[in-house]
Order: sequence, then C-alpha cells, then structure tokens
Amino acid sequence: MGFFDSFKKYKSQLDAVDSSIYYGSKTLLEVYERNAKLEAEIEQRTKELDRANKQMLTLQHIWNMMNSSEPLSNVLNAIVNSLQGELGYVYSFIIKPQIKDGESFIQVAAASRQDFSDKFAKYFHCKLSDYKMVYPGIEGLKDAVMNNTIYQSPNIVELISGFIPNLDKERLEKFFKEAGMKSYILVPLMSKDIHFGSLIVFSSREKVSSNELNFLSLFAKQIELAITIADLFQAVKEQAVTDSMTGLFNRRYFEEFIKKEAIRAERQNQHFTVIGLDLDHLKQINDVYGHNYGDIAIKAIAEVLKNNARSIDIAARMGGEEFNLILPGVDSAGGLVAAERIRKAIEGVELDKIGHITASVGVATYLEHSDDLDELLELTDQAMYESKRKGRNRVTLAKPAHETSWQDVAIKTYIDILTKHRIPVDEKIAKLLTEKLQSTNFNNERLYQVADTLVSTYNPDHNDGSVKQKVQLATLLAKRFDLSKEQIDKLKVAVLLYDIGNTMLPKELLNKTEPLSDEDKESIKQHPLIAARDILKPISNITDIIPIIEKHHENWNGSGYPNQISGEEIPIESQIILIIDSYFALLEKRPYRNANTKETAIKIMMGEINSKWSEKLASEFISIVKNDLD
Ligand code: GH3
Ligand code: MG
Repeated sequence: MGFFDSFKKYKSQLDAVDSSIYYGSKTLLEVYERNAKLEAEIEQRTKELDRANKQMLTLQHIWNMMNSSEPLSNVLNAIVNSLQGELGYVYSFIIKPQIKDGESFIQVAAASRQDFSDKFAKYFHCKLSDYKMVYPGIEGLKDAVMNNTIYQSPNIVELISGFIPNLDKERLEKFFKEAGMKSYILVPLMSKDIHFGSLIVFSSREKVSSNELNFLSLFAKQIELAITIADLFQAVKEQAVTDSMTGLFNRRYFEEFIKKEAIRAERQNQHFTVIGLDLDHLKQINDVYGHNYGDIAIKAIAEVLKNNARSIDIAARMGGEEFNLILPGVDSAGGLVAAERIRKAIEGVELDKIGHITASVGVATYLEHSDDLDELLELTDQAMYESKRKGRNRVTLAKPAHETSWQDVAIKTYIDILTKHRIPVDEKIAKLLTEKLQSTNFNNERLYQVADTLVSTYNPDHNDGSVKQKVQLATLLAKRFDLSKEQIDKLKVAVLLYDIGNTMLPKELLNKTEPLSDEDKESIKQHPLIAARDILKPISNITDIIPIIEKHHENWNGSGYPNQISGEEIPIESQIILIIDSYFALLEKRPYRNANTKETAIKIMMGEINSKWSEKLASEFISIVKNDLD
C-alpha cells in the first residue's frame, strides 16, 4: 500500500471517529435505553428463575419426603402445605372419593391449613367432617376427572355447593371473599392409571397463567409418584415376614402361622407347643454397656434359637427382647425338653464384655393347656413370668387354663349373684347380663362390660371402662410385689367384686335429708363390707377372696375400718385394692366436687403416704400411673 492509500484510510477512520463523537449523545441515549430494557428483562428473568427455583425446592422437599418411609398422609399433608407456603396459594387440599353403600363421597386426604377448617366450622356452625360430601360435585369437575385434565374456575361457591348441597350461597360467597379466595384450580390425580382423587388449590387471583397451570400439573405428577411409592412401601411392608435385626420371623408372621397351626392341630388332633422366652436383665446390659451391647445380646439369643430349631419350627421375635417358638406336633413333655435345651444353650453363650446371658422361659401346649389361642399365649406368658419370679434362667410349664382361669371364677360368681337374686338389680338388666356371661364366644371385654354395668347400678358417676383399668393396674402392681400367678388371679376377681356390697346400702339411709348421725355414718362404712361377705359367702370357689375384700378399707396407720388393723397386718391384695379404688374415686365427680385430673389425684395421694398407704405402695403405684400419663 502506497503512502496516499494509507493516509486516505487513516483519514476516513479519523472521520468516522470524529463523526461518532459528533453524534455521540444520540448513540449513548440508545445504549442507555437498550441497557434499561435489558435490566428490566434481567430482573424479570431473575424473578422467574427465583420462582422456578422455589418450585424446584418444593419438588425437592417432596421428593425427599417420598424417599423416607413416612406414612402417605404425612407426605400428602407436607405436599399441600408446601403449595400454600411457598407459592402463595391461599388454601389447598387433596380429596379422595370413597364409595359407601354404593354412593360416592369425599374424604379429605390432606389439607394445608387447619385454621381454614376451623374458620369454616365457626362460620357455618359445623365441622367440614360432619358433611357427607358428594363427589365429584359439579358437572365441570366430572369431565375434568373423567378426562384427567386441569380445571380452573372463579366459581368457588359452585364448587363447595356441589360438595355440600345445602349451605347458604350468600354466606358462602361472603366467607370466601373475606378469606381472599378468588378462584380455584382442580388437578385430577392418578395412581397406576386409576383415579386417586383431586388436588384443589384456592388462589387469590381470578385467573392463573398457563405457566402456573403447567407447574401445578408437574406438581400433581409428584403427588402421584408419592402415592404410588407409598403403595409400594405398604405392599413391601405387608410382605415382610422377618425381623430385620435378627432375621427371625416377625410378630405378624407368628400370629398368622399360629392361627393356621391351630386349625391344623385341631383337624389332626395333634398338639403343638409354644415356647415363650424373655432375655433376663436386658435393661442392666443396656445401662452398663450401652444399647449396642443390648442388641448383641438379643442377636445372640436369635442365633441360639435358629441353631436349636428344627426345620418345621417357627422362631419369631415378638418385639424388644421377647421371643416365641412354635413346635408343631410337639406335646408339653417334648416342649419342656426343647425349652430346657434352649435355656442351657443361651446360658452357654459367652459374649464379649457382657459375658454370659440368661433367659426366662415359659412353655404351653395347645389342646393340653388350652384350646383357645389367646389364652394359650397368655398362659405361655404367665409361665415365663413365673420363671422370672422364681429367680430367672429357668423353664416353667404352664398350668392348664381350666385350673386357673380367673375369668371363669368371675363369670361363675356373677352368674350366681344375678340368677339367685343376691343383689337388688333390675330384673331386665340381670337377665341381659346373665346372657352376656353365658355367651359361647365369651371374652374379657364382655366380662368388663358386665362389671361396669353392675357398678353403674349403684354409682352413677362411674366411668365405663375403669373396671378393666383397675384390673390391669392391680396386675401391674401385684407383679411389683412379686405376687404369684395364683395370688394375682384372686386379686383380679377381688377387684371385680370388692364393691358389690354397695348394692345393699339401705335406700332410706342414702336418701336421708337431715345430717347423718355418727351411727348412720358407721353404718354406711360398715354395711358394704358386711353385705359383701353375706353375698359372697355362699358361693364356692371364692372363699379366700372374701378376706381381701373385707380388709380393703384398712389404712396403713390403723385409721381404717372395720378392724383398724395396720401395716403388714393388712394383706397386700387389700392394700392394692384400697389405693386403686381411691385413685379411681378421685377421677370421678362427686355431688360435692368435680372430677380430679390424674395429676391432682396423684398429688392428693402423695399426701396420704404413711397414713392410708405405705410409701412403697404409693411410689410403685404412681410410677405405673405416671407411665400411663405420658
Ligand atoms: P427381666 O429379667 O425382668 O426381663 O429384666 P429386663 O431388664 O430384661 O426387662 P424389662 O422388661 O424391665 O426391660 C426390658 C428392656 O429392654 C427395656 C428396653 O429398653 C430394652 N429393649 C427392648 N428392645 C430392645 C432392643 O431392641 N435393643 C436393646 N438394646 N434394648 C431393648
Ligand atoms: Mg427382659
């Protein structure tokens, strides 16, 4: 390139720069405008990103929940809650159709905000759950559900009226306006190609964008996945027959197996034996060496059971440190031999740090000790408990049910009392109760119902169900005082009967309006005890229960009645009845006071230590009841 050419080129470039400087202000304005536009766009994009991010986080959260083994209802509730919280929807819920008597109703499977239903309840003076809600409610919904498409509408009133036909429309309108709900979106939910229900979202906007609808349908997919996964979890759980810690069968399998075994045993008139086994002093192992070592001890027992069981035996971990074995075709003699072999094998194991462990064992045989499964297991448990009581690390054979059943004694006594009119009970009630007692498929619940009904005839403030609780508490307490099974059985019958004399209190005494004389008071105190003796004396089988009942108003310090005996002179069974009776009386209301709470009752009872009961009895009792409270 010659000089001139070069010069020309530079000159033209200089001109260009020059003119750009000249026109500079205009160009800068353009740039500025373009930048402003860009910034707005970036801001918009950022907002969208932010929103997408939130949506992603929400989905992520749900995904995490789905991968845990939370129950479905928890997952669904978390899902609807995240919809409301994160994305500004006012309220969202999942409904599920339910067929009942051929008609379709709605069940609310999850809802995002409790205060919505509370508000609704206040506004309409009844709970949402009081309604049998029709599904799918309105025509549009039916189509959406049928075609599996999203449905959006501002007509919330129509939606709710579709579900609950007879609500006042104007009130509905007002309610939703005040709640800031302007439209709703319904998304049908499918699980494995079957309609599961619908997600319904109330929005504060009249219409939501198609982007948002897309998001909701993506969201619905997550819900569908959650439902499917929960179904799978459930199916897997239901199929599990083994205990994951030990590899032994689990309780569910044991229960199924023993039922089948009972049918087989009955058909072939063949025995089977149950061995119940409980690790001794596990709590101590946990406390001294830590929970891990406790687990090692449990696994060691499982190993022994596996090694000692024949291929047809079933060894199961019932939970915690409790094991059961079923030995098909084995009678009690064979069962005892097997149990003893297992006990010895456990004793022979030596574990790192812990050293030797032991177990207490109970043995009961079907068709020998009982022909009722529940009773058989109860007898096994009682025998195991007897082993513990006698010093642990031993085997005890159950006693046959017909020799020991406290229920039988109670039933016989009640029937005697009712049919021989030993107490003044309405004829119709007596007949009904007798029928109940004689029913062939008798169970403990019926016995307690009869007991509750009888108590109610003389105590109008009696809380139904408390007789059962009294028997359970008495049993727990008795075990803490090392009572034998025979003693506990007597105590149980005594708990059912100790108040029976109250039916005989003279009405004229109870209805007296003038203040009671000392003589009257004495009579009210003594009469029930005398009456109980008179009622029960003629009945065979319970003669040794009468003294327990007669002494259940004696106090530890000798201030009770009828004989003012004190301390250890009072049978422990009577002491137990006194404390249980006092506790339940405190929980009932009286004409002159309200019912006490459990906490208050306990406080009052603490104040009576060393006067009404011993410190040991009170502290054992309170520790049991406190456990009950948590
Ligand atoms: P006993 O000889 O009377 O049976 O005494 P114990 O300490 O074994 O019995 P108790 O029933 O009083 O206590 C059982 C304890 O076992 C309480 C519980 O914390 C513990 N336990 C239950 N399941 C497990 C488990 O899976 N692992 C561990 N390490 N401990 C368990
Ligand atoms: Mg134990």
